[in-house]
Amino acid sequence: MIEVCKIMTGVEKVDKEWWDERVDFQAAFLQQLAMYVPNIYSAEMDPLLEKQEEMAQKQIFDPLEWYLFREDPDVCLEKLRKCGVSQLCGKVFKSGETTYSCRDCAIDPTCVLCMDCFQNSIHKNHRYKMHTSTGGGFCDCGDTEAWKTGPLCTNHDPGAASTTKNSECQLNEELMAQAKKMFPSVLKYIVDMTIWEEEKELPPVLMTSREKTDHYYCVLFNDEHHSYDHVIYSLQRALGCELGEAQLHTTAIDKEGRRAVKEGSYVSCQEAKEEIKRHSENVSQRPLHVEVLHADVMAHQKFALRLGSWLNKLMSYSSDFRQIFCQICLKEEADSEKPCLISMLMLWDAKFHKGARKILHELIFSSFFMEMEYKKLFAIEFVKYYKTLQKEYISDDHERSISVTALSVQMFTVPTLARHLIEEQNVITVITETLLEVLPEYLDKNDKFNFQGYSQDKLSRVYAVIYDLKYILITKPTVWTDRLRVQFLEGFRSFLRILTCMQGMEEIQRQIGQHIEVDPDWEAAITIQMQLKNILLMFQEWCACDEDLLLEAYKECHTAVMRCSTSSHSREKTVLQLCGHTLESKRYRVSVDPVSIHLPLSRMLAGLHVRLSKTGAISRLQEFVPSEQFQVELLVEYPLRCLVLVAQVAAEMWRRNGLSLISQVFYYQDVKCREEMYDKDIIMLQIGASFMDPNLFLLLILQRYELVNAFKKIMPTKDQDLTKQCNILIEEMLQVLIYVVGERYVPGVSSVTKEEITMREIIHLLCIDPMAHSAIAKSLPENENNETGLEKVINKVAVFKKPGVSGHGVYELKDECMKEFNMFFYHYTKTQHSKAEHRQKKRRKQENRDEALPPPSPPEFSPAFSNVVKVLNCDIMMYILRTILQRAVQLETHLWTEAMIQMVLHLLSLGLLEEKQQLEKAPEEEVTFDFYHKASRMGSSALNALNILMLLEKLKSVPQLEAQKDMINWILQMFDTVKRLREKSSLATAATTSGSETTKGDETPSTQDKEKAERKRKAEAARLHRQKIMAQMSALQRNFIETHKLLYEHTQETQGREDSVMEEESIPLAIDSSRIALGPKRGPSITEKEVLTCILCQEEQEVRQESAAMVLSACVQKSTALTQHRGKTLELSGDTLDPLFMDPDLSCGTHTGSCGHVMHAACWQKYFEAMQLNSRQRLHVEQIFDLENGEYLCPLCKSLCNTVIPIIPLQTQKINSEDSEAVAQILTLARWLEIVMARISGYSAKNTKGETQNAPSLINKGMGDFTSEFHSILSFGVQPSAKYSNSIKEMLVLFATTVYRVGLKVAPNEADPRIPMMTWSTCAFTIQCIENLLEDEGKPLFGSLQNRQHSGLKALVQFAAAQRTTSPQNLIQKHLVRLLAVLLPNLKMEDTPCILDVDMFHILVGAVLSFTSLYWEDAVDLQPSSISSAYNHLYLFHLVTMAHITQILLTSATESPTAQSQDTSEEARTAESFCREVCHRDVPGWHLWDCVKKGITPYLRCAALFFHYMLRVSPPEDLLLVSEEGEFKALCSYLSLPTNLFLLFEEYWGTVSPLLQRWCTDPAVLSFLKGKNISVRYPRKRNNLIELPEDYSCLLNQASQFRCPRSFDDERKHPVLCLFCGTMLCSQNTCCQELVNGEELGACTSHALQCGAGVCMFLKIRECKVVLIEGKTRGCLYPAPYLDEYGETDPGLKRGNPLHLCHERYRKLHLLWQQHCIIEEIARSQETSQIIFGFNWQLL
Ligand SMILES: [Zn+2]
Ligand SMILES: [Zn+2]
Ligand SMILES: [Zn+2]
Ligand SMILES: [Zn+2]
Ligand SMILES: [Zn+2]
Ligand SMILES: [Zn+2]
Ligand SMILES: [Zn+2]
Repeated sequence: MIEVCKIMTGVEKVDKEWWDERVDFQAAFLQQLAMYVPNIYSAEMDPLLEKQEEMAQKQIFDPLEWYLFREDPDVCLEKLRKCGVSQLCGKVFKSGETTYSCRDCAIDPTCVLCMDCFQNSIHKNHRYKMHTSTGGGFCDCGDTEAWKTGPLCTNHDPGAASTTKNSECQLNEELMAQAKKMFPSVLKYIVDMTIWEEEKELPPVLMTSREKTDHYYCVLFNDEHHSYDHVIYSLQRALGCELGEAQLHTTAIDKEGRRAVKEGSYVSCQEAKEEIKRHSENVSQRPLHVEVLHADVMAHQKFALRLGSWLNKLMSYSSDFRQIFCQICLKEEADSEKPCLISMLMLWDAKFHKGARKILHELIFSSFFMEMEYKKLFAIEFVKYYKTLQKEYISDDHERSISVTALSVQMFTVPTLARHLIEEQNVITVITETLLEVLPEYLDKNDKFNFQGYSQDKLSRVYAVIYDLKYILITKPTVWTDRLRVQFLEGFRSFLRILTCMQGMEEIQRQIGQHIEVDPDWEAAITIQMQLKNILLMFQEWCACDEDLLLEAYKECHTAVMRCSTSSHSREKTVLQLCGHTLESKRYRVSVDPVSIHLPLSRMLAGLHVRLSKTGAISRLQEFVPSEQFQVELLVEYPLRCLVLVAQVAAEMWRRNGLSLISQVFYYQDVKCREEMYDKDIIMLQIGASFMDPNLFLLLILQRYELVNAFKKIMPTKDQDLTKQCNILIEEMLQVLIYVVGERYVPGVSSVTKEEITMREIIHLLCIDPMAHSAIAKSLPENENNETGLEKVINKVAVFKKPGVSGHGVYELKDECMKEFNMFFYHYTKTQHSKAEHRQKKRRKQENRDEALPPPSPPEFSPAFSNVVKVLNCDIMMYILRTILQRAVQLETHLWTEAMIQMVLHLLSLGLLEEKQQLEKAPEEEVTFDFYHKASRMGSSALNALNILMLLEKLKSVPQLEAQKDMINWILQMFDTVKRLREKSSLATAATTSGSETTKGDETPSTQDKEKAERKRKAEAARLHRQKIMAQMSALQRNFIETHKLLYEHTQETQGREDSVMEEESIPLAIDSSRIALGPKRGPSITEKEVLTCILCQEEQEVRQESAAMVLSACVQKSTALTQHRGKTLELSGDTLDPLFMDPDLSCGTHTGSCGHVMHAACWQKYFEAMQLNSRQRLHVEQIFDLENGEYLCPLCKSLCNTVIPIIPLQTQKINSEDSEAVAQILTLARWLEIVMARISGYSAKNTKGETQNAPSLINKGMGDFTSEFHSILSFGVQPSAKYSNSIKEMLVLFATTVYRVGLKVAPNEADPRIPMMTWSTCAFTIQCIENLLEDEGKPLFGSLQNRQHSGLKALVQFAAAQRTTSPQNLIQKHLVRLLAVLLPNLKMEDTPCILDVDMFHILVGAVLSFTSLYWEDAVDLQPSSISSAYNHLYLFHLVTMAHITQILLTSATESPTAQSQDTSEEARTAESFCREVCHRDVPGWHLWDCVKKGITPYLRCAALFFHYMLRVSPPEDLLLVSEEGEFKALCSYLSLPTNLFLLFEEYWGTVSPLLQRWCTDPAVLSFLKGKNISVRYPRKRNNLIELPEDYSCLLNQASQFRCPRSFDDERKHPVLCLFCGTMLCSQNTCCQELVNGEELGACTSHALQCGAGVCMFLKIRECKVVLIEGKTRGCLYPAPYLDEYGETDPGLKRGNPLHLCHERYRKLHLLWQQHCIIEEIARSQETSQIIFGFNWQLL
C-alpha cells in the first residue's frame, strides 16, 4: 500500500507542476489526453481491462484529481464523503432490480423506492407494491413531492445523522474555482468525442505529432432488427471465426451496443465491413450497421465515456460539483445558434450506442435530477426539444428504457414541475402537437385515422408520447392561475384536434353476400383507445376543477362534435308516425350505411355533460351553447348507431364481417375500454332522453334499431332466421331502454359517490360467484393510478374466506347485499347475466322463497336528468310493452321470447318503483308520473283490447312462462301497492307491504300449496335427472379402461378403484396371541388369503407361489431425503461402487415407492409394450416419460412409475411351543455363533479352492466349549425352500435389476453380484424413509400408513426376502459373511469397515435376508424351519442392536451433560457401570441412558416395521398410538428386548465382551475417540426444507445482494434458492453452466445432481415460483408458498402485493419431498400442461 502511494505521489508532483505551468487548462488537458489515450486503449480487440484502468488512473485521473483538489484526492474525497450524503437517493435502477411503491403514500404509481430505502422507510408496513424494474428508473427517496408521508428513509433523513452537514459540506472557494476551470474542458471533450462522426480523423487538437498509423477497427453496432442468431451467423460467415468467438462478440454487442470485431489495416477492415453487411442482408433483408473506425478515434470515444463515469462519481460527493456541472451544461454560447451542451447530448441521443447512452443518462441522473432547481431547467430544455426528441425516438429502433425520452416520467410527474411546464412551456400543447405531427401518416383522405397495415413497433413508440400526456395530467392542480387556465385550455383544444381525427375513424360497412377476405387490423385503434381512456378521464377531471373552464371546454367540445356530425351523410329525410306521434329524421340505416365505433369526441362531451350536471354549472349552459345550437338529436345519433351495431352483431347480422368486428365489440364493452366507450354512449342516450320529447326519443330508437315494422304489423313468419334476428334486436333494444332509465350509478346522473359505484360493481360480480381478490380487481376499471378502489369498500359488501393448502382465498357476498342485485346490470356480459340469474334463483329457492328477482330501487336522477323517467310512461313505451305482452298472451310463439318478457317485466317494475317512490315523497296531486294510470288504460278501442294489468293476469297461465310467475305476481302486487298509494285510502297498510320484498303471507294458501307441490315435482324430476347423469359418468369411467381395450380380452364390471386394490388389514386384534415378533415366543403370522383385482383386466386372483405373478406398480429413485451430510459429493455413476454397506450419514439411498395399484404381470407387460408401440408410431416430440428407462404412467392413477414389484405370498409359519422350549435349552447365543462359524468355515473350505484373498480368515479364540461341525446348523429344523412360478421368478429378476440400475445409475446386468445388495439396501432405506416420515408427521408407527405406502412396503419386504432364490447361493453367502464380519471379531475380512462407519439397520436387513443362504445344500434348497429362523432372527437382531448401542455410546454420549438430574433408575445405574467398564469413562448414568434411548428409538422403530412386514406378526397395541413412553416399552417387547437395554450385555456378557473389545479398539474408532474424525450422531437429525423468511421482500433483498460467483458484470441474474440446502445459484445463464459427462448443464440441474441425487426443489426468487426438477429433462413449476393478504399466490410478482410465508403450504412442499412424490408431481403437471415442453430444463 505505502509503496504504491509513494510512486503515485512521485508521478504526481511532476504532473502537477506540468498542469500548473500552463494558464490554459484546456490546451494542457487535451494535450495530455492526446498523448496518453491512444496508448491506454490501444488493444481494443482483446483488452486487459485492469491494466487499462490502472494506466488511466495513473496517467490521467490522478493528475486531474490533484489539479482539482490541490492535495491528496483520496483524503479530500474521504472528507467529502463523511460530510454526508444527499437527501435524495437517486439510485438508478438496473433492469431486473426490485422496486417498491407505496399505495398509501405515493403521489402516483411512478414514485418508487430502491430496496435499501424501502427497507429503511415507514412504507415497509404500509400497503406496498413490489415491481421488477425494466431499467432506467430512479429512486424517489427524499423527493418531498413524490410522497404524501415518509419521503425519507432513515438513511437519507438529514435529521437522523448529521444535521449540520450542509454548511460543513460547502466546498471552499479555491476548490470551486478549480472545478469551474476544469469542468468545461472535461465536459466539452466528452461531448465532442461522443458526437464525433469522422471515421478516420480526430479533432486537430487531439492529433499528435506521431505519424498516423494504419490501425483500424471494424465496429459492429447493435440493432433490434437482427436476432442474436442472425448476428452470430453473419459474423461466422464474414470473419470465418469460431462459434464461441462469434457468440462472445454478439453478447458484447447486445450489452454494450457496439464492439470491434476485427482490427487491421483500413482496407482489410473495409472488406470485413462489406462482408458482414452482405451476409446479414442475406439472412434478414437489412444489413447490419458496421463502421470502420481509426484506432485513435475508438480510443478517445472510449475514454470519453470513462471520463463520464469519473465525473459521475465525483458529483455524488458534493452538491456544489453538481451545480457547477449543471451550469456549464446549460450555458449557451453567446454568439452561436448552437444549443447548450446538455441539449446537444439529448439531440444526439438516438445516434449513440447503448453503452454511451447509459453513461450519459446516468450523468443526467446524478447531476440535474439531484438538484431540484436544475431539474426544472433541464425539463425546460427537454420540452424545448421535445418534438425532435420524440421523432428521433420513433424512428430509432432501441428500446425505450435506453432513450433519453424515457426521462420524461422523472419530470412530468413532479406536480410543481408539471404545473410550471404547462404554464411556461405550454407542455400539453407541445405533446399533443407532437402527436399530431407523428400521426399524420395514418390519416386518410377524410382526415380520420386509419391504422390498416400499421407497424406495431412504430405505433407502440407513439404510445410513449400518449404516456407523457398521462404523466403531465396525473396530478390535478390545486390552485388555478389565469395563465394555467389559458394554457390548459389551449392544450385541451389541441387535444380535441386529435380526437377529431379519431371521431368516426375506421368506418365499417355491413358485408352482404360474400364474407370479407381479410380481417382488417383493428388492434391499433382499440389499443389507442385503451391508452387514451384515463387521459380522457383526466382531462374531464381537470376541466371540472373550475366552473368557467368546464363550460368553456364544453363549448369547444360541442362545437367539435357538431363539426364532425353535420359534415357527413346529410341526405333526404324520412317521416315516421306511430300512436299519433311523428318523427322526422335523416335517412340512415346501420345495416347498410357506414358506421364507426370510435366516437371519442361524443363521449368526451357526455363526460363533460355529467360533470356539468354534478357541479350545477349546467344551469349556465345556455350562455355558452344556446339551445338552438344544442341539437340533441345530432349528439345522440352517433352513439345510438354504435349501440345498434352492437345489437346487430349480437343478432348475427354482421357475420360476414369476420372476427375483427366481434373483437371490437368485445372491447367496446370490456372493462379496459367501457368507461370511455360503452358507458358514455349510454350516458349520451340519457342526455337525449332528458332533452327530447320521450315519444320522439323512442321513435328515434325504434327507427335506428330498424324495428318500426316489427312493431307496426305482424311480420310474415316464413323466414325463421329473420324472425330470430328481429327477436334478438328487440331484446337488445329493450335492454338498452332498461339501461337508459335504470342505470344511474354515475356521479352527475344521480348523486352517487365513487365508493357506491365500486360497491355496486363488486356486488354484481359476487352475485355470479365468490371471487378471488385479484379476479375482482381485474374486473374493475383502473384509474390513472392503477387503483380500483376495491380495498376501500370490499369489506362492506363481502366476507373473506381463507384458502386451504391449495387454491386461493375468495370473497363471498354478504347476505344483506343480495337485495342490490339487478339482473339487467349493464356491465354483465350475456353469460354473466345468465349465470347470475341462475345462481340468485337457486339461492332464493334454497331459502324457500319465491323466485322473483325485481330490480332494486335505483337512486334518484339528478335534476338535469330527471326527464329521463318520462320515457317509461310515454305512449310509445306503453305501446311497445303492450304489443309484446299481447303477442305472448296470443301465443304467437315465434314473435316473442321469454327473455323479452323478462325485460318487459323489468321495465314495468322500474315504472312502478318510480311512481311509488314519487308518491311516497310528495302529495298525490303533485305527482305527474302516471305509470299506473297509463298501464291500466286500454291500448285501443278494439273490442278485445286489454290493458297491461289484464295482460299480466293472462300471462300467468302461459305454460312457457312458468319460471316468470313469481315475478308477474310481484308486479301485480306492486300495481296494487301503487293503486292504494294513489287512492290514499289505505296509506298505512300499503306502507307495510313495502315494495321490493314480498312477504309470503300475501299469497293465498291455495296457490302456495299448489306451488309447493309443483316445486316438489320439479325437485323429484331434478333428482332423477341427476341419477341419470351419475350413471352416465360411471359409464364414462368404465370407458376409460375400455379405451385401452386392445390389450384385454375380457372386461369385467368394476367397482371403483378403492375397494379393488386393498385387502383388509384382516387381523382382528382381539385375538390374544403373543405380540412378539422374534425368538421362541414369536406370535402367529396374520393368516390372510390375498385376493387382488388387476386394474387392467379387472379379474380377481389369489396370490400364490405357484400362480402367475401379480405385480404392484412402483417407482424407484435415488434419494438424499435422509442425508446427514448435505453437499457431500455423490458418485454420479456407480460402476465401481460397493453398496453392501450404507454409510451412517445416509447421504444417498435408493427409495422404492408405489401408488398401490395391482396388475397381472402379463397384463402389465402387454400394457407397457402397447405404449412403446404407440409412442413409436406417434413420433411424439417429447415424452413425459422415458420408455427406454422403463417409465410409464400407472394406468389407473397416472403416477409416474418405472418398474413393478412382484407380490410374493407370505409363508405362514407356526411355532410349536414344546419344540421351542426344547431348543431353548441348547441353543444359546454362544452355541448359535459357534454353529454359524462352523458352517461358514465349512463353506469357505469348500468354495474357495484356489482363490484365497477373499476368503474370510477365521480366528478361533476359544469361543465356546465344544466344536461344531458343518451340518450342525441343520439340526435345529429345516424345511424345503419356497418354489415360485416362473412368472414370479421373472418378475423378481426384473424388479431387482431395476433397483440395481436406478440405484447405481448403471446399465442393467442381471448377473451382477451387486443385485442382492441393492435389494436389501432399498428395502432398508425405504423403511427408514417411512419411519422418518411417520415421526415427522407425528403419526403412530402402525395403522397410520396410507394404503399405497402400506401395500408398497409389504410387497417390497416380501420381495426382498424372496429375491435370494434367483441368485446363486454362494454369492449370497459371501455377502452375508462380509456383513457378519462387521460384528464378529473372529471373522476378519480385509475391507471390513469399523462399526462407526456403517448403518446398523442396513446390516440388520442384509444379514436377516441373506442368512437363509447358510442352509443351502448341494442337492436340495433348504431353509430354516420356523423355530430355527426365530432364533436366527433373535440372535442377529440382538447382536446388531448391541453393536448399535455401542455406536451410540461412542458417538453421542461423549459430551457431559450441562443439566443435572438425579435419576437413579436401574437403567441409569447399569448404563453407568457399563460405560465405565467398556469405555473407561465416567459419565452420569441417567445421561447415558437418555442418549441411548433417544438414539436407538428410530432403529427400533425401523426394525419393528421390517419384522412386521416380513413375518406379519401383529404389533402390540401401544404401537398403534402415539405415546413416547408406551412406544418404547412396546417396541422392546415386540422385538424381544429387555426395556433396560444394558441387560442385554449382562445376559450375553461372556460372548459379547470379546466383541466389545474388538469393536472399541478398531484403529478407526480410536482415532475418532481422539477427535480426529467426525461421525454421525444419533438420533440422526431430521431433514427439513430450509427456513424461509416470513416476508417475501427479505428474499428479494437477499437476491439483490446476490453476485454470480463466476462473472463480475452487473448484469441481471436469475438467483435461485435451493430449498434443500439453501444455496443460492445463478440460473439460466451461461456463466454458471457446468460440463457434466460431456453435457452442458445449467447451475440448477448440476446442483440437483449433487444435492438431491437428481431430484431437487428450487425457489426462483425474482419470479416467486417454485421449480421442481428431476434429472436433466424434466421439471415443473409450482406455486411458491407465499400468499398475499387475500390468500393468493403471485407467480411472476405481477400484482406485487406484499407476500407472506404460508406455513401450511411450505409444509406441503416438505412432505412432497419426504414422501418422494416430487417426480410424481412433475409427471402430473407435465401431463396437464403441455406448455412446459418448450422449456429446456437442462439449462436451468
Ligand atoms: Zn433509494
Ligand atoms: Zn432513502
Ligand atoms: Zn407508505
Ligand atoms: Zn390382468
Ligand atoms: Zn396407480
Ligand atoms: Zn441444494
Ligand atoms: Zn453466473
